[in-house]
Amino acid sequence: MSKKLQPIFLLALMVLVAVIWYTVFYFEEHQNLLVTFFDIGQGDAALVEIPGGNQILIDGGPSSQILSKIGKTLPFWDRSIDLLILTHPHADHLDGLLEILKRYEIDMVIESGVDHSIPEYKEWQDLLEDKKTKVIIAKAGQKVKLGRSTELQILSPFKNFTSQTVKNIHEAVVTARLKHNQNSILFMGDAEKSTEYRLLFESLNSKFLILDSSVLKVGHHGSKTSSAEEFLKAISPKYAIISAGRKNRYGHPHQEVLDRFEKLGIKIFRTDLVGDVHLISDGISYVFGK
Ligand SMILES: [Zn+2]
Ligand SMILES: [Zn+2]
Repeated sequence: MSKKLQPIFLLALMVLVAVIWYTVFYFEEHQNLLVTFFDIGQGDAALVEIPGGNQILIDGGPSSQILSKIGKTLPFWDRSIDLLILTHPHADHLDGLLEILKRYEIDMVIESGVDHSIPEYKEWQDLLEDKKTKVIIAKAGQKVKLGRSTELQILSPFKNFTSQTVKNIHEAVVTARLKHNQNSILFMGDAEKSTEYRLLFESLNSKFLILDSSVLKVGHHGSKTSSAEEFLKAISPKYAIISAGRKNRYGHPHQEVLDRFEKLGIKIFRTDLVGDVHLISDGISYVFGK
């Protein structure tokens, strides 16, 4: 080899070794289920990485900030996300998903289908149609098998809202419980007390609907419209994640709600205070970390 080529060859070799190690570490670490609740300002966005490599993004936050967050979390070669869930078409959940839909390959979308007359939702529908993305209309009772030990259970809405308009779009929110072996995480979107009471009622009348979950993504950014005490007692979570913007104008999370969690001995992680919240589940226990 000529003297000129040697440094280039060495550099190429170093890059190759680095890539291999990165891959090995990524896959070793990835025997666990990982969830990242992003600090994306006033909004919601959570990425679920399932053992085996499938990924779900639940809401996308209020802006394109989600792109850099995802870019830092997923390996650089990964330009696809298996499932997007739009819990409801409010801008603080939808706008970031639009950017994801434009730039990533998406296999499937789950949403309630409820209509909302904002331009972003029209853009969302047009994009889904252009890209011929498979869309599933969420309904309580559906189950999505995500791997040997992982399953997503859709808990609400209770009826089909396709193309319907409702006064309070939170009535048509998609809520879901993610089961990983013995662990489960409840994603409440912006669900309010009416949905919580309905879920309580349904769970008391059906042995198939189980609310009990050790981790709760708190409904509606910790607003006092949500997190009724009876509901929290039924879930009996150990940990709660509140996604809210620093010093947001809504005063989320509400002190009343924070006090309720404290009274029940539930540990709270707030994205407005600690930034991104990372959760690792091995199927039996949880680790929270940076
Ligand atoms: Zn919201
Ligand atoms: Zn909302």
